[in-house]
Amino acid sequence: MNQEPLNPGDDAAPGTPGTGEDICPVCGGTGTIGDAACTNCGGSGKVIHGIGGA
Ligand SMILES: [Zn+2]
Repeated sequence: MNQEPLNPGDDAAPGTPGTGEDICPVCGGTGTIGDAACTNCGGSGKVIHGIGGA
């Protein structure tokens, strides 16, 4: 299995149990900040966050 590189805003790899996608708080889900790609989410506009308290 290939492990995809995580973006800085990700808590875990996509599909990890107990985690889910959330809107990137840095770019607000747009994937860009001004003219540049958001580095927190890698330009996807979404980040992976843990659900509940782990
Ligand atoms: Zn972002």
